[in-house]
Amino acid sequence: MRSYVAEIISVGTELLLGNIVNTNAQYLAEMLSLYGINVYYQTVVGDNPARLKAAVEIAAGRSDILIMTGGLGPTSDDLTKETVAACFGRKLVYNTEVEKKLREMFVHHGRITPNNFRQAMLPEGCTVLENICGTAPGCAFESDGKLVVMLPGPPRECIAMFENAVRPILEKLSGGCIVSRSIRIFGMGESAVEDALHDLILGSTNPSVAPYAKTGEVMLRVTALADTKDEAFDMTLPVIDEITNTLPDCIYGVDCDSLEERAYSLLSERNMTLASAESCTGGLLAKRITDIPGSSGVFLGGVVPYSNEMKEAVLGIPREIIVEHGAVSEQTARMMADGVRGLSGADFGIGITGIAGPGGGSDEKPVGLVYVALAARDGTYCRKMMMGTYGGRDMIRARSVNTALDMLIRHLTGRPVIANMY
Ligand code: ATP
Repeated sequence: MRSYVAEIISVGTELLLGNIVNTNAQYLAEMLSLYGINVYYQTVVGDNPARLKAAVEIAAGRSDILIMTGGLGPTSDDLTKETVAACFGRKLVYNTEVEKKLREMFVHHGRITPNNFRQAMLPEGCTVLENICGTAPGCAFESDGKLVVMLPGPPRECIAMFENAVRPILEKLSGGCIVSRSIRIFGMGESAVEDALHDLILGSTNPSVAPYAKTGEVMLRVTALADTKDEAFDMTLPVIDEITNTLPDCIYGVDCDSLEERAYSLLSERNMTLASAESCTGGLLAKRITDIPGSSGVFLGGVVPYSNEMKEAVLGIPREIIVEHGAVSEQTARMMADGVRGLSGADFGIGITGIAGPGGGSDEKPVGLVYVALAARDGTYCRKMMMGTYGGRDMIRARSVNTALDMLIRHLTGRPVIANMY
């Protein structure tokens, strides 16, 4: 198979000024590497036709595939199409199909202004790439053996267009179909995962196995290339089995997006419900669960009893418990989980209490001490976490919620709820 070199050219003065982060380039680079396409250069250039022309000419001299993002919109600083087309000796021509689509779209988007029709001007002979999330179409053409692709700047539009319209072009080019599966791991650091799977990560090329660290988690991506999607999918199965057998205790899901997505689908498959009582996380668990459309089917509600009085009044935690053991204690966490489960009638109650910092810690109860409790029909479990100050308040809160979700997923999948964290 021929190996290709691609160059990503991100267009936008905002990128050069540091006003926005170049997430499109990050996404595109990751996707191209999945296809085994080498990216040796990435360029960022402002909304300036002369400098964009120079960047395109340099890229065309050293790369086979040029992918541009940004500057496809209707305003006068959106110059990517005319500049890039001119570099390859192409004129822009008016595309009446695109005009028709724009008119249909603007029935729902309000009044169409004359500059919107600039979006129907596209390089002669190009393939139009449909924009399912916005108005500006993308385009692709081949010239002198180079593949030139132009995608919109807004990340949602850029990603959707890549997924729907560019992937098939790259699949044709790389002579096969790619299937990429994700394995989600919680409770094990990236280096421990790499150590356990050292031979597999280094030794596998097709399927390849690559680890990615996320906040408090690790994701392994298993990618296979084959003639058909089904064949590529089947090729990933033994590798996923091998990983699952090596790390049986820490994998919380395959092909799921997050801990909350996994918890949500397990609860809904079982027709079960959840409620939460969160002190130091201030409703973050409730927020993350309710970010998922349809979560009302599994999440009954949450309370944020921040003060001792609220813990007493809302959850019925006896004052003596709080006086004797403290608001941040295993006893209080357990009673918060039990209390909210009783109050709501949910199958599961989660209680979280801790010291997120930066102040409020003591020698006995330092910043980063958090108790997470899960109340279930068969009893109440509690995990004590000593996270220290690393990562600050945000990280302590995020990891507390991750732990609560991990405990719930473990319970729902029959794994030990209280597990050693690596
Ligand atoms: P529009 O129709 O919105 O004008 P466009 O294709 O012309 O789309 P730009 O005007 O270049 O795109 O960028 C629109 C917005 O998209 C920017 O303000 C920025 O928020 C975002 N954006 C552009 N390029 C990138 C990038 N490389 N990474 C992340 N976000 C980007």
